[in-house]
Amino acid sequence: MQVLVTTPHVWCSLLAAREIIWEGAVWKVRDGRKIQVSKNRWLSHKPVFLGEERPNMLVSDLMDTETKQWDRGKISTLFAYRTRMEILSIPLQNSTAQDKMEWNESRNRIFTVKSAYKVALRIQENTQAEHSRAGLDRPMWKKIWKLNIPPKVRNFLWRACSNILPTRENLHRRRVQVEPWCELCCQCTETVAHMLWECPLARNVWHYAKEKCRNVRTQSRIFFSLFKMVVDRFSQQEIEQWATVSWSIWSARNKFCFEKFQRHPEQIMREATGFLLEYQMLQNAQV
Ligand SMILES: [Zn+2]
Repeated sequence: MQVLVTTPHVWCSLLAAREIIWEGAVWKVRDGRKIQVSKNRWLSHKPVFLGEERPNMLVSDLMDTETKQWDRGKISTLFAYRTRMEILSIPLQNSTAQDKMEWNESRNRIFTVKSAYKVALRIQENTQAEHSRAGLDRPMWKKIWKLNIPPKVRNFLWRACSNILPTRENLHRRRVQVEPWCELCCQCTETVAHMLWECPLARNVWHYAKEKCRNVRTQSRIFFSLFKMVVDRFSQQEIEQWATVSWSIWSARNKFCFEKFQRHPEQIMREATGFLLEYQMLQNAQV
């Protein structure tokens, strides 16, 4: 049966559905001929190449043509440790069956409207973050520029909201050859929100903050959404403190990553508070 689709609305719906399936599904490896190593989702992370990425490589290119098993030599030369280990842990059944896509957003692998809705929300959040970068969320940006905070904190906040801080996830996404995992806790992907809020170091720092700051929780993985929530709930002075403490956590993270120097959470909080206070006193003195 041929279906003639003419209305833009239907086209948009179909395209959105395709995007949701693309985001929520993963490939299960069989003969590896349908899966592109770098472009399709078949591992828990984007493959990390040791040298230059091979954009057109298929998963079948990583198999021995005769035995139909993984070509261990080739995989060792091409990929970083974590990618290598994950590929080799995928069992191959020496079969000629074709690769298939599975829904990855529910435990039983069954596609449900509820799980698809969650994926749609995730896509929407990412899109919003992109839009905010393009300047569509002007009132929020104005808010950032009006805060009475040191210029380096303002600059940091802008970069965190734009999701351009060089976290490991962002570097990995831009194809820099680093693992995306947080170096401090080694448990999660290092997103901006993880590093500033969910990571044990961040949580320990926020423990010393006022109760209001401590209780900010969101399901969002996007820092910009978190910031919006803070702006809605906090006074100007509280936002300024929140931003400076976040900057201080980022600085402590850098000190740990680049100098292997770990600072005490209470010290991080104390320095942030002192830094802001000193800056604001100086500003007031100049008026
Ligand atoms: Zn962490």
